[in-house]
Amino acid sequence: MINVALFGPPGAGKGTQSDALIKEFNLHYISTGDLLRKELASGGKLGMEAKLIISSGGLVPDEIIVQIIEKTITEHPEANGFLFDGFPRTYVQCYILEGLLSKMNTSLHCLLSLEVDEEESVARLLKRGQTSGRLDDNETVIRNRMREYYEKTLPVLKFYQEKGVYHPIKGDNSIENVREEIRALVIEELRKQPVSIVLFGYPGSGRGSQGRALAKHFDLEYVATGSMLDEEIEHQTPLGTLIKERYENGVLISDEIVVPLIEKKLEESKDVRGYIFKGIPRTLVQSYILDGLLRKRGMSITQIVEIELSTLELIKRLDARSKTKGKMPYDSTTAKIVQRLQEHELKTVPVVEKYAQQHGVTKVDGFGTFEEVFDRLKAVLEKSVWGS
Ligand code: AMP
Repeated sequence: MINVALFGPPGAGKGTQSDALIKEFNLHYISTGDLLRKELASGGKLGMEAKLIISSGGLVPDEIIVQIIEKTITEHPEANGFLFDGFPRTYVQCYILEGLLSKMNTSLHCLLSLEVDEEESVARLLKRGQTSGRLDDNETVIRNRMREYYEKTLPVLKFYQEKGVYHPIKGDNSIENVREEIRALVIEELRKQPVSIVLFGYPGSGRGSQGRALAKHFDLEYVATGSMLDEEIEHQTPLGTLIKERYENGVLISDEIVVPLIEKKLEESKDVRGYIFKGIPRTLVQSYILDGLLRKRGMSITQIVEIELSTLELIKRLDARSKTKGKMPYDSTTAKIVQRLQEHELKTVPVVEKYAQQHGVTKVDGFGTFEEVFDRLKAVLEKSVWGS
């Protein structure tokens, strides 16, 4: 998740620059000015209260701003992040934003400040006033808005300068140049963000071998509950004996066993930029557990990918694997293979469906050679990991 604020005096070009940004980085756009104008047009109570203030160029009270912002933030949990335009507009609003975002376990990652001189802004707004139909785009109100900006809004910069997330941008360059500069800064920021990718697929879809290769390629930690359990078996630990028994009966391993193992793994790999999870979450309960484990580390799921393969092909692959030396205890007989596929359908498919509604799931065709599938997966993950 990445949260960006576009900052600058009225007329600096914040609205113009936001279109490309929200599309490219899948951000949810929050312009308090637009939200207020919508409230106003719909004749809502908040809009009526704000009307007089907006038409004189003053700032609307924080009580109103908090209500419209909170509603919008909580309604869009699927967004990759938020792009704020026209907010925070006062020093106090910086704390409001911090409070709202910390509730979601996140913060503002960059404040992009379009620096344009006053006369240039006024000239742009007067020009816009000829077509915008906005009641505040006339000279008297514009001057008032500018005064509000210099007195009340500029102190916002100090807040974010101290946090180290303030980035000045020369706003009187061409629209394209400003866009490129913004884009580069957002990509740079994205590359610093932790990533956690969840890889789904039926048993036999290749998620294990692909997950391992992807983790290596992107320099992420591969977290596979299956492999961690196998290690316990291999080392013949007491836990391993228990796990083996359950495998042989084709039953899922309980969360009491899985959670401490994952915690240990995450703890051991604190210095990596992120994780590829495979084999977790397997159940709806585990999807909450994973959220909890990530939140504890200030993280959330970045992208969810599902490798798709026909049932026929899955059975063919699992059957072939059962005849190799590297076969798993759980794919030694047809009955066990079928049981695993059924278990996936019953317990894990609902998890993928839940994620599809909440975050969106990227589907990747799992048919073809290892390299072909790997290239497809790599292409869909590149954006999350590298930002472009
Ligand atoms: P904008 O579209 O951002 O230029 O905003 C138009 C008007 O809406 C401003 O002049 C203010 O009256 C009001 N407004 C927008 N955002 C805020 C905010 N964060 N705090 C207070 N008033 C705001």
